Amino acid sequence: MTPDPAALSICVFCGSRTGASPADADAAREVGRLIGERGWRLVYGGGHAGMMGLVADAALAAGAPVVGVIPQSLMAREHGHTGLTELHVVQTMHERKRLMAERSDAFLALPGGLGTLEELFEVWTWRQLGYHDKPVGLLNTGGHYDALLAFIGHAAAAGYISAAQRALLQVDTCAGPLLQRLAGLAAAATEPDDYALT
Ligand code: AMP
Repeated sequence: MTPDPAALSICVFCGSRTGASPADADAAREVGRLIGERGWRLVYGGGHAGMMGLVADAALAAGAPVVGVIPQSLMAREHGHTGLTELHVVQTMHERKRLMAERSDAFLALPGGLGTLEELFEVWTWRQLGYHDKPVGLLNTGGHYDALLAFIGHAAAAGYISAAQRALLQVDTCAGPLLQRLAGLAAAATEPDDYALT
């Protein structure tokens, strides 16, 4: 289903901790603010901890509806956010991921750790397999992902990742242009959402 750009839902993956670089926290706040200023919706993991809490609070402050999806077992550990527009407490991680994907028109990863990487690679690989047609972005704030992108380049040079697969990941160091690019690609997406089928 082609999304209404005026009501775009952006799914943000990011750290459940705040990293050492203040630039990362600034980027999380900027992404939340920009989503609100554009009249979009934030979908995320529902926690109030770390980068997740920063992006959610900034989006709420800028007037965005914010949808959180969190497994019951992580409510305490990730400080389930009680001030969201919608908080879905689900039973499993798989339910969380499916609901976040179904409710979103585009995906954006900010600096984070293992969980963030897992979420990013899942939506990227599912896109290359044709399970969905939603754009996938990576915000490379402060060079956080330089080493990862270098490895992706290495894997491409070694013949394991095609140029077309690599091109499915939108990368930028600035949030504003990256969000605009994701919005344009989301508006052009035509394939039905197959998440419910997987
Ligand atoms: P992290 O980047 O490790 O701080 O984790 C960021 C978010 O990813 C947290 O909300 C984690 O619960 C979540 N997460 C951790 N493991 C997974 C996983 N296997 N699939 C999806 N999300 C995960």
